[in-house]
Amino acid sequence: MSLERTLVILKPSAVQRGLIGEITHRFERKGLRLAGMKMMQLTEDLLNEHYAHLAGKPFFPRVKASMMACPVIVCCYEGVDAIQVVRSMTGATNGRVAVPGTIRGDYCVSSQENIVHTSDSPKTAAEEIARFFKPEELFEYDRAIVDFLYYPEEYKLT
Ligand code: ADP
Repeated sequence: MSLERTLVILKPSAVQRGLIGEITHRFERKGLRLAGMKMMQLTEDLLNEHYAHLAGKPFFPRVKASMMACPVIVCCYEGVDAIQVVRSMTGATNGRVAVPGTIRGDYCVSSQENIVHTSDSPKTAAEEIARFFKPEELFEYDRAIVDFLYYPEEYKLT
């Protein structure tokens, strides 16, 4: 159990389909704290780094083009075990397989146009947050509701 930060990208498929509010609403209602949020246009260089693990795949150029189709929204969320919490809310990569109730399971039907990127481990979360946010774009602030989201031993900062 630890307080973690994780990166979420609302992909062009979310922006174009008008799903920004729906998706951010889910993370808000879950109880995650928004530490940073901005709109940006992704570039080939950034995507070569971000998706380096896909470099050998035949669909890599198509995935990059899809991610550059329009600006995206990048978000940093914080919470206890936030990386796993957000990943569970995301669902399987292929929207046709993703379980209903997850973001991909509820909002998409594609293995590529799958609405969100979410960090999959503490290592990638740390790397991705540093890749997409400058330190001054991430914010610390208290929330009055914290005692109704966690018990004190769960949320060590209370
Ligand atoms: P995830 O986004 O679930 O962590 P990956 O890191 O394996 O999945 O892949 C990154 C992104 O590349 C996926 O979200 C998806 O947009 C795209 N992608 C992955 N596999 C495929 C595939 N077989 N066909 C088309 N696009 C894919």
